Amino acid sequence: MIKRAQEGGEWIMLTDLLINHLLKAAVTDKPKEPRRASKPKPKPELKGPASKVEPTPQEGQVSLEDFNLFKVIGRGSYAKVLMVQYKKTKAIYAMKVIKKEIINDEEDIDWVQTEKHVFEIASNHPFLVGLHSCFQTNSRLFFIIEFVNGGDLMYHMQRQRRLPEDHARFYAGEICLGLHFLHARGIIYRDLKLDNVLLDSTGHIKLTDYGMCKEGLGPGDTTGTFCGTPNYIAPEILRGQDYSYSVDWWALGVLMFEMLAGRSPFDVAGNPDAEQSNSEDYLFQVILEKTIRIPRSLSVKAASVLKGFLNKAHEERLGCHPETGFTDIQSHVFFRQIDWEELEARQIPPPYIPQVENFQDLSHFDPQFTSEPTDFTPDDPFILEKIDQSEFDGFEYVNPLLMSEEDAV
Ligand code: ADP
Ligand code: MG
Repeated sequence: MIKRAQEGGEWIMLTDLLINHLLKAAVTDKPKEPRRASKPKPKPELKGPASKVEPTPQEGQVSLEDFNLFKVIGRGSYAKVLMVQYKKTKAIYAMKVIKKEIINDEEDIDWVQTEKHVFEIASNHPFLVGLHSCFQTNSRLFFIIEFVNGGDLMYHMQRQRRLPEDHARFYAGEICLGLHFLHARGIIYRDLKLDNVLLDSTGHIKLTDYGMCKEGLGPGDTTGTFCGTPNYIAPEILRGQDYSYSVDWWALGVLMFEMLAGRSPFDVAGNPDAEQSNSEDYLFQVILEKTIRIPRSLSVKAASVLKGFLNKAHEERLGCHPETGFTDIQSHVFFRQIDWEELEARQIPPPYIPQVENFQDLSHFDPQFTSEPTDFTPDDPFILEKIDQSEFDGFEYVNPLLMSEEDAV
């Protein structure tokens, strides 16, 4: 069964038996080079008197005053996300807010920089959430990003249970194009899961949340950080090997299995071993060792593509050949009928159009969030004192492309 659970706001994919243990570890980020802080650590020394005056926006920059805050729409482990309106154009955006106090060291600064940079790059692709602007206050960082209001694939799957193959093909095809765009620019996404695939009001997909991306990979480069959402972590990461884009194709295999079968390929519910051992370790053992059984109800083509992406040997996995990887996916029997150019141009009609009355319709968002007050908690001078503001120099950004489009409105 497909479920989600919440810890610190981050949604994770779970099977029944794993809930209790995995609740503790939404994002697994172990030794080697952990990038994301799980808990705010106090700074050892004070960084000088806290400035109570908010930074004045420079000419051409945007600031909190430029937005009407309408509703809270989501929370992750690090961020609160609101639906907001840019006063100047009345356009609606999502505002992702991160508290500076959780950013404790160089590596945390790096992931913020990476998230910003990938948002910037993503603005050029139809299936990735793009960036409008960035700004900061003394206590917080703000990303103004495209607002996507059709709900995520997790929400959609919970209502559909499982998807017909041509629906799954459509979503997987658009995801492939989004991932390939990132890979071609030296970026591994590393957090593909049902919750991070949003549907826009027309039914096309948008990948969001670039906080776990790895950027700057040159041809043949690899990385080694142990990270991801447990159910989607590729065997090569679990084996402690250095890895590259292959981990995204594995995660796509897990996600496609979930769409087509209505459950995780690593569903261990009812297995007594899972109860006895640490469930996360057990899950990892299953990912590494268990032969994945494809439901017999699936077509030969679907079974073949799942086996291709869920190949535990990443060198042989579908999509992972250094030269022909992406064309191997495009010409696979499961995908062969897709006109990839039309798909990328958003010309293929989506299989399902979310019922969205207007841009402010939040029926696809969890009332748990939309009922929260939109105001931010007042700054705590004691916490402000510990923030080294110089670490955030240059965070401000305005996307020239989006701004000029708006001016034309
Ligand atoms: P975190 O980095 O803390 O995990 P996310 O970027 O995943 O934060 O955002 C938290 C939640 O906010 C998401 O799970 C999603 O429900 C919602 N959300 C994020 N970005 C958008 C967006 N662009 N449009 C609509 N909802 C969004
Ligand atoms: Mg998230």
